[in-house]
Amino acid sequence: MSQEDDKKLSRRDLFQRATATALVAGALGPTKALAADPLPQVPRRVLGKTGQKIPILLFGGSMRLDQRFDPKIAEAMRFGVNYMDAADCYGGGTCESAVGAYHTMAKNRADLWITTKSDDHDPAGFEKVLETSLKKLKTDHVELYFLHGLDDPAFLTPELFKVVEKLKKEKKIGHFGFSCHAGNVAELMQKAAGISAIDAIMFRYNFRQYGNKELNTAMDACRKSNIGLIAMKTQSSESSFADAVKKFESSGKWNKYQAVLKAVWADERITAAVSHMDNIEKLRENIAAALDKTKLGQHEIEALEKYARDTRAFACDGCDHHCNPAVDAPVKIGATMRALMYHDGYQEPEKARELWTSLPERARQLRLIDFSRANAACPHGIDVALHMKRAAELFEPSSLS
Ligand code: SF4
Repeated sequence: MSQEDDKKLSRRDLFQRATATALVAGALGPTKALAADPLPQVPRRVLGKTGQKIPILLFGGSMRLDQRFDPKIAEAMRFGVNYMDAADCYGGGTCESAVGAYHTMAKNRADLWITTKSDDHDPAGFEKVLETSLKKLKTDHVELYFLHGLDDPAFLTPELFKVVEKLKKEKKIGHFGFSCHAGNVAELMQKAAGISAIDAIMFRYNFRQYGNKELNTAMDACRKSNIGLIAMKTQSSESSFADAVKKFESSGKWNKYQAVLKAVWADERITAAVSHMDNIEKLRENIAAALDKTKLGQHEIEALEKYARDTRAFACDGCDHHCNPAVDAPVKIGATMRALMYHDGYQEPEKARELWTSLPERARQLRLIDFSRANAACPHGIDVALHMKRAAELFEPSSLS
């Protein structure tokens, strides 16, 4: 395939080539088939001070994967998407065992980059969780190990970094970092920029934040310190965003999911974007977007900006230090909005319920609470009262009867 052909690769071409190769693979076996018609590979970029090249599209494991052999991982691997983003808690604790089953059956551990994460942030717990993860992953090491969902910078201690060094020396982890998606992402990234032990950060980033000065300054600081940056939640946390997606998609070549990924890849500071591709069609659409080298045009950028404006009041940034204190009850508005986002935006009801049930019981009691002051406190004009009522109806219908 020439470079020019590659540039023009459409989703339909990708489907046809993938299907044809799959048929040949069935007849000849995978090795001969790939030799006969090598599939295009997703571009790769260096992940900061790890010095390693990873694909710009990463396989997000926060879902229920097939525990015997997940065909989506196998399909992703064929196009060079060989980075698995796992965590001890993903898929209700089943993600790591599915990844372990996949590479054991495919006999390709050496070709796979595994990142996993610990929900336990103190040094002893961090080390202990890794031992369990390695067993489930059926491996003796992971390429990258994160503190999962860090929101308190106080966990970044010299004691933790000593454990990191030890795990690196024992070759149980290749690199270290953290993931973050709460309201203080920029603060955490600024702090990380001054810590040599941190190799990479996975952070909440999407097209709504291009003009966010604080976040951009933090991203620049991380780049200067050569910390690899991975974007997550690239679709942004929308809840109940009506038909704005359809309007956006009728305006150009890409669907919304592809366009927001391309918008992230356009930022050279970011190495890659993680995506939860829960079916083969979504996987192939995202791979097609990664393979197509054309950049978003002015018309598409404007359409994305208009979409961002039209849906601003449906997109929660998780900054609930603004809205929670305005409510006289121990609610967790950011996390509740996140559960709604998984239900409405990603259409993953199981994941939504999992997040909801992980909240403390008192945070799930939304009835008879006055959220009007939370509405006023939200800087983005989100109708918190409306969404909390929806959450109660959706997740706790019996509480309303
Ligand atoms: S509702 Fe508004 S203030 Fe509360 S977390 Fe979401 S964006 Fe932040």
